[in-house]
Amino acid sequence: MTLPREVDAVVIGAGPNGLVAANRLADAGWDTLLLEAQPEVGGAVRSDREVHPDFVTDTFSAFYPMAVASQVINGLQLEEHGLVWRHAPAVVGHSRGDGSWAIVHRDLDITAKLLDEEHPGDGAAWRALVDQWHKIGPSLIDALVTPFPPLGPGLRAMIKLPRVGGLSFLRELLSPAANILEQEFGGEAVRLLLAGNALHADIPLDAAGSGFLGLLLIMLAQNVGFPVPEGGAGKLSEAMRDRFVNHGGAVVCDAEVTKINISCGVATGVAVHDQLVRVRRAVLADVAAEHLYGRLVTFDELPPRVRVMMAGFRRDPATFKIDYALNGPVPWRTQPPYAPGTVHISDSYEELVIAFAQLSAGSIPDRPFLLMGQMTTADPTRSPDGTESMWAYTHVPQRVLSDAGGTLTGSWDDADEAERFADRMQDRIEQRAPGFSERIIARRILTPLDLERRDASLVGGSLNGGTAALDQQLIFRPIPGLGRASTPIRGLYLASASAHPGGSVHGACGMNAARAALTHARLAPRRAVSKPAST
Ligand SMILES: Cc1cc2nc3c(=O)[nH]c(=O)nc-3n(C[C@H](O)[C@H](O)[C@H](O)COP(=O)(O)OP(=O)(O)OC[C@H]3O[C@@H](n4cnc5c(N)ncnc54)[C@H](O)[C@@H]3O)c2cc1C
Repeated sequence: MTLPREVDAVVIGAGPNGLVAANRLADAGWDTLLLEAQPEVGGAVRSDREVHPDFVTDTFSAFYPMAVASQVINGLQLEEHGLVWRHAPAVVGHSRGDGSWAIVHRDLDITAKLLDEEHPGDGAAWRALVDQWHKIGPSLIDALVTPFPPLGPGLRAMIKLPRVGGLSFLRELLSPAANILEQEFGGEAVRLLLAGNALHADIPLDAAGSGFLGLLLIMLAQNVGFPVPEGGAGKLSEAMRDRFVNHGGAVVCDAEVTKINISCGVATGVAVHDQLVRVRRAVLADVAAEHLYGRLVTFDELPPRVRVMMAGFRRDPATFKIDYALNGPVPWRTQPPYAPGTVHISDSYEELVIAFAQLSAGSIPDRPFLLMGQMTTADPTRSPDGTESMWAYTHVPQRVLSDAGGTLTGSWDDADEAERFADRMQDRIEQRAPGFSERIIARRILTPLDLERRDASLVGGSLNGGTAALDQQLIFRPIPGLGRASTPIRGLYLASASAHPGGSVHGACGMNAARAALTHARLAPRRAVSKPAST
């Protein structure tokens, strides 16, 4: 691998944010080099055939509502580069302890009918909620994916606020998932769907912010669905890579950046082990905040406050994932009325609260909340006819202090520990779907440590680039005062999910970084680089 000696910009890391950033810079005519440590692009948006050669498995993420709902990735027109979106018959289903289902279907009439069957009147309340969301939701999403403060989209959202109830609506948005919409719905279904979706992030259900996340996801479920790329998650990354290369960009994989070079407070290039690449304009880092600050750039090269504030940077919980190749569909004891792509498993709302509280206490949950993907249900190309490519994941503490369900210690590299926890998760599926275990052709366990080995940015197996709690959002992400992509080093930008607006595949962190680099470059002259780079 011989790298170019000098380019306009280097993007470190080819996760969705790095790929978006690289595309934006290439669109602006910048000579851009994208360097990726792993053998393939995609970061946590990749697929593989390791579980079984006939089955495509999404190694990490799987469903991409934010990619289609926001203009950032949607605006790249990836369909022209081979991307095809597929949808399951139903979007998301919550399987309860009694086997019954709470379901969101993309057809509003069907969702409303199902909610009414459970509690008369909830269908009409759902329609009213969806109607209200149509008036303001798109502006809220625009505001979310714009650098903070989101002046334009924020203003547009404020103008629409009176049409949706003004301050009452704003207060509702800020309510915890435990309380939001409690007046509107008589049945449990919406509360459960909202709480389960809120727990895709790590904000406690009784804390402000969780309600908004839950609402956002259930409204996305209704309005855009939870789409998957035909052929596997990796197809989304490949489409972004192909578009970038078609626009003149260069990608090098198996190229871990080991240092960002700084001279007089300016980023001048990167080192990939013993090779140097100089930059004329910028370095954009789609890497974990704690890898950027303190490792790729040493604390000595940064203002002292960065070291102090990074000491307070918090990760979200670790993730434990199991991938399955099944010889048939999941044999649900009570079949859902429409087969969902995304499935949540917890007996009740109370059980969700308990599982989250155990996590917060450093305890491995005894009855883990499972998020599952029935991928062949969503995209029949994933595995042979009549089979199912499926996964389930849950969260475990970053630092395990105890086990609420037995004697695990969280030593995940111990195969026995990992198998025992995987069995605990699988028992939950078996209870809902007797005979599930007999359908398993192959199973792969990805512990938090395995996830991090496959993507260094998933520090400790966390999936959102740092906690989504309010004290680490907006201008506090990743540390107070750095709510924008720029860093204390001129020409260096944080482009990963550790930056605002955080985790999920929307590409906004990458787009914000690219826009900041382009804006600053317009204001500053192009740098002359005189010394030849060593190789
Ligand atoms: C198990 C799991 C399930 C998820 N499910 C969903 C989902 O269904 N929907 C959703 O929207 N989101 C989901 N997410 C979250 C989502 O995948 C992430 O928020 C998103 O991938 C973050 O993108 P990123 O580009 O910031 O970082 P990443 O995707 O983590 O990519 C970072 C890239 O940078 C590379 N890198 C790091 N350091 C270096 C270096 N020094 N040199 C070179 N390369 C480097 C890494 O190898 C990696 O390829 C999930 C995540 C996980 C782990």
